[in-house]
Amino acid sequence: MSARILDGKALADEVRGRIATDVATLKEEHGVTPGLAAVIVGEDPASQVYVGMKHRASEAAGMLSRQVVLPTATTQDELEQVVADLNADDDIDGILVQLPLPDHLDPRPVQELIDPGKDVDALNPYTAGRLAVGDPTFLSCTPYGVLEILASAGIPTSGAHVVVVGRSNLVGRPLANMLSLKGRDATVTVAHSRTRDLAAVTRLGDVVVAAVGSAGLITADHVRPGATVIDVGTNRGDDGKLVGDVDFDAVAEVAGAITPVPGGVGPMTVTMLLQNTLEAARARRGLPRR
Ligand code: NAP
Repeated sequence: MSARILDGKALADEVRGRIATDVATLKEEHGVTPGLAAVIVGEDPASQVYVGMKHRASEAAGMLSRQVVLPTATTQDELEQVVADLNADDDIDGILVQLPLPDHLDPRPVQELIDPGKDVDALNPYTAGRLAVGDPTFLSCTPYGVLEILASAGIPTSGAHVVVVGRSNLVGRPLANMLSLKGRDATVTVAHSRTRDLAAVTRLGDVVVAAVGSAGLITADHVRPGATVIDVGTNRGDDGKLVGDVDFDAVAEVAGAITPVPGGVGPMTVTMLLQNTLEAARARRGLPRR
């Protein structure tokens, strides 16, 4: 193996330590405890694991963490009322509605309802639009985590060609928008399922980000020697083990740097949710960004 391993878990621990210190200072100086509310509808096991992780992480950072657990039979109106109540709740600075919702519920009106000042998951189209016009408020947590991993590893985005594989509203699209902001200055290519000759496209990248959900899609052939490879994918192998979109062992022989799965992007996603909640708590009280 020649690639440097970018340890997202270690970085997450470090950033969460800083966030906990900032939360303690906010409490001491302003009497404010940042509050995060997570709404979960139904019994999707993966969603329960994710919400549990977010709950533990926000409590560990000294935040108020509220879990709103709703039955599968919850109606659209009932869910929207829960969000409206959280919007009006002064103890709550950040609101997230865990996806996926049960099939009978439409996530879009729910996301549109979240107060943009509390939209720490950055899925309200208003928040996405602010990013798209180059004046972002909250940054989507997973792409934000990817940027933090690159920055902490000293891998520049300015002038770099970054190929993002995947164009979802959750990961690929916001990441492409963030990378092309003035100040980040990457040249960005967005690839997707209709991209012709994916390997030829990804080989152009100084950085390749895989956000697809297809185990082993990115092979050594997809990567230019020395390039950085960030694996956002989370897939369960036949043996139940978590694997990314990247054929890790083969790609690590070619890449200059690579994130593992698990222990790469995942821990940073939760960390950036905490960061956004802290920023929301500060902004709602007119305090400057840190
Ligand atoms: P998604 O909404 O399903 O989007 C997947 C994207 O991949 C789509 O744009 C799709 O193209 C593209 N794609 C599918 N097959 C392809 C192929 N063969 N070649 C090139 N592109 C292809 O998924 P998502 O929500 O963005 O999530 C992507 C992965 O990241 C999943 O494994 C998810 O579990 C993981 N994830 C991880 C974290 C974390 O914290 N680690 C957070 C979020 C997501 P089309 O648009 O053409 O369909």
